[in-house]
Amino acid sequence: MRRSYRSRIYPNRTQVRTLLATLETCRRLYNNALAERRDAWKEKQRSVTYTHQANALAAGKDELQVHSQVLQDVLRRLKKAFDAFFRRVKNGEVPGHPRFKGKGRYDSFTYPQSGFSLSEDGEHVTLSKIGSVRIKLHRPVEGAIKTLTITRDVDQWYAVFSCEVEAGPRMNANPSVGIDVGLKKFATLSDGTVIDNPRVLRESERKIKRAQRRVSRRRKGSNRRKKAKRVLAKTHRRVRNQRRDFAHKLSRKLADSYSTITFEKLNIMNMVKNHHLAKSIIDASWNQLIQFTTYKAEGAGGRVELVDPKNTSQMCSRCGVLVKKTLSVRVHECWNCGLTIDRDLNAAINIQDRSGWEPPDAPVELETASKREASLLVGG
Ligand SMILES: [Zn+2]
Repeated sequence: MRRSYRSRIYPNRTQVRTLLATLETCRRLYNNALAERRDAWKEKQRSVTYTHQANALAAGKDELQVHSQVLQDVLRRLKKAFDAFFRRVKNGEVPGHPRFKGKGRYDSFTYPQSGFSLSEDGEHVTLSKIGSVRIKLHRPVEGAIKTLTITRDVDQWYAVFSCEVEAGPRMNANPSVGIDVGLKKFATLSDGTVIDNPRVLRESERKIKRAQRRVSRRRKGSNRRKKAKRVLAKTHRRVRNQRRDFAHKLSRKLADSYSTITFEKLNIMNMVKNHHLAKSIIDASWNQLIQFTTYKAEGAGGRVELVDPKNTSQMCSRCGVLVKKTLSVRVHECWNCGLTIDRDLNAAINIQDRSGWEPPDAPVELETASKREASLLVGG
């Protein structure tokens, strides 16, 4: 099982220059390799493979200032982009050809196996061709480090270690839970717990809107606009970090409290199509929460299940009939069995019911069933 550790690093000025030069070298290589693939296809209907490009790279030896495996990884990223492109073509989807990366649009590079080491005390990371950089680890890195990715976020730098760790013991004794994610509330749990949208995030979103307006007011190409853009990028970064913190804390709680945690399978296509700012931020938060919960649950001996979202809010969670309601109807009132509960709680219970979770033994089953009945009565 893979786990990643993301930590801020503090390069000195010379190192920042080298890091920026590395990103630029990677970006050029990416664009050149992309052009080679594209031209070969256009002119001779021939595909250029990763192996071919990697061999050419090894023969060239003209990028000596960057670690060779880092450059190979650039070609591997391009290969992945093309693989995804061909897969979409094959599936008859809108393909979207891999695109050239503009200046400043290439923000990370990866050491896929070697070329880096973490000091014994965990205070420095040594990067081949760059040097020893100060690092601030939040928790000790566990397991075997497989890859290291260095990322730029506006004017800050981060190291992401991807490690192979042993999965925890299978199946813990905690109860199962279904989770309905929503717009008004962040999430509703099938045991009746409601998790509100974090206030700090709502405030930050207002700040993003303000910063965005400032950018659009300023004249194109002006220094004032450049400055405003930088402020906007930093505000985005703050929100990203706050969102990540929130997802980390909540996923930790979920993984520690439940054995099987069930979410709806989110529709990625709808998520991409949605350009509305607040909505897209929330979509990204859900996705992040599911990812974090998945690996934390695995570490704690539990698991995450994703189930079909069809009719989870319309179906009655007690008797199974469909109770049609628009988005504005906040209470589920069953015409058949009379169940009256909060709309999102009804959905969360349906989501839990669709998981493959089986109660470990009879007494526990009775207990959870009666608990649920109790929460149904107070809900709504
Ligand atoms: Zn019913």
